Amino acid sequence: MSQLPDKRTVRKVLRRLEHMYGPRQWESWGPAVDVLVETILSQNTSRANSQAGYKQLKRRFRSWSSAADAPVEEVEQCIRISGLSALKAPRIQAILRQIRAERGSISLEFLKDMDPRTAYDYLRAFRGVGAKTASCVLLFSFRMPLFPVDTHIVRIAQRLDWVDDRTTADQTQDLLTPLIAPDDRYALHVLLIAHGRQTCKAQSPRCEWCDLLDLCPEGQRRMAE
Ligand code: SF4
Repeated sequence: MSQLPDKRTVRKVLRRLEHMYGPRQWESWGPAVDVLVETILSQNTSRANSQAGYKQLKRRFRSWSSAADAPVEEVEQCIRISGLSALKAPRIQAILRQIRAERGSISLEFLKDMDPRTAYDYLRAFRGVGAKTASCVLLFSFRMPLFPVDTHIVRIAQRLDWVDDRTTADQTQDLLTPLIAPDDRYALHVLLIAHGRQTCKAQSPRCEWCDLLDLCPEGQRRMAE
């Protein structure tokens, strides 16, 4: 039976991850529209492939407006390496056009003057923008205290037995966010992803090297085998 952690345990995990990978200070990841497009491209693919598609898109089009007005096949070709390009290309173009129609230009910088909940709801209203994507934009561009949950974070939360195997990423995000101090959400997000990539890997977690072992039922089970 899984058990959500208390706030002290969450903080302890953050301190241990800082010890393993070094502290993380917030820094802007760029304009919100850029982060939004990048995050959509990152859905269901590796970081390397999403970044390659994003770079090609930026190289091919002078502005987001020209990307919005281009034939969809051109956008699709640019982002093919990021996977699901037939879905992502029209989705990105529709979002860019909608922002321009509503705001007069393709910028989301006005969101920084909104309260996080209103800004989050605005982004979630776009087709194809889920909880993780909206939270990434607001956290990485404006330092709003959200806690995006991706596949690495769900996997680690399940192994720590904070949530059970059937809990989705969105549910995990809703459950864990209130347990993390607002100022810790950025650091915990990026450090858990680093942990998922380097140590708590999907196939072969390196539990013998993990500073979370005494807090982790799955790690202890694997070490006992
Ligand atoms: Fe992951 Fe193993 Fe560390 Fe648990 S002990 S968090 S399973 S690497």
